[in-house]
Amino acid sequence: MRKALAALLLIFPVFLRADSVATKTRTVTKLADGVWTIRHPDAPDTFPQGNTTVVIGERGVLVVDSCLLPTTAREDIAQIRQWTNKPVTWLVNTHWHFDHTLGNSAYVAAWPNLQIVATRHTQKAIADWNPGAVARYPDREARFRKVLESGKNPDGRPLTEGERKDYERSLAGLAPVVAEMKNVTQFVPNVAFDRELLIDLGGRPVEVRFLGRGNTGGDTIVYLPKEKILATGDLLVHPVPYLFGGFPVDHPVTLRKMAELDATTIVPGHGEVLHDKSYIYQVAEFLEASNAAMDKEVNSGKTLDEVQGSFSKTFEVGPWRTRFAGTSVDDIEFFDGTFDGLIKASYNQIKTR
Ligand SMILES: [Zn+2]
Repeated sequence: MRKALAALLLIFPVFLRADSVATKTRTVTKLADGVWTIRHPDAPDTFPQGNTTVVIGERGVLVVDSCLLPTTAREDIAQIRQWTNKPVTWLVNTHWHFDHTLGNSAYVAAWPNLQIVATRHTQKAIADWNPGAVARYPDREARFRKVLESGKNPDGRPLTEGERKDYERSLAGLAPVVAEMKNVTQFVPNVAFDRELLIDLGGRPVEVRFLGRGNTGGDTIVYLPKEKILATGDLLVHPVPYLFGGFPVDHPVTLRKMAELDATTIVPGHGEVLHDKSYIYQVAEFLEASNAAMDKEVNSGKTLDEVQGSFSKTFEVGPWRTRFAGTSVDDIEFFDGTFDGLIKASYNQIKTR
């Protein structure tokens, strides 16, 4: 998986969004009375889909993230209608990545009066970036075929057998995803906030907050103070963090602010529901250690190329790999991919501070 990730990132450096492990099944989990979260199977082309959380109040329903495929969002909508006859009145987009936002159109079709909420930054990113990204999605077919026919990764490295299989798997499932993309409109959030938005759904207060940058420039968390439930967006992805871009210097600061919230149920952007904060601290500690090592590398005057060659020696990554990925081959590959992404993002942010 990691090999394909690395290769795909070179093709689509900004908006490949990955779950940390391949997710094959749909899982619905009750978090409290009237609060549920849904974990989605990856799209047919293996593109991951973010978790969706549903909060039902006396006057309406709030949904956190609309996932990638409108067909999957429509399954969620059918499920919500089994839980309640109240309308979805609020949809929060935790960040702009379209594995969390492309299902917006399905919600607008189902409840035309709903409000879609995001930070001002995320609202602008979705408006500026996502329609073009969706329009370019079909280009993947030609790019993937070129890689397979040439036998070389976009960076010129020969394809390994594992990479070839990953490309073939993505290509084999691409047609139905492209067909959906051709018919989808990326709805842009119509309500924007800078710091926080406090919503009372009726007996169900919900805090929608920007705590700082991390995964993107406008990450939002959703917190239910009564139920002590926290939905993190991709600031937290389990069991291996998603660090292919974003702001690695800010990220641990934001995670530590997140950990100050009195939460006992934590829904990451991808992955299973967590029941304590230990994983938040683990990701923060990893980023702090990596940033400290990168600071020295940058101060020594190395170029990005040089750091990419030396960082896995100057920063002892092995114990972190084991802590996050254990012995799972898929998770180890994903960790190595996310670590490559972190090196680049961290170098760039520290270099330009
Ligand atoms: Zn995501």
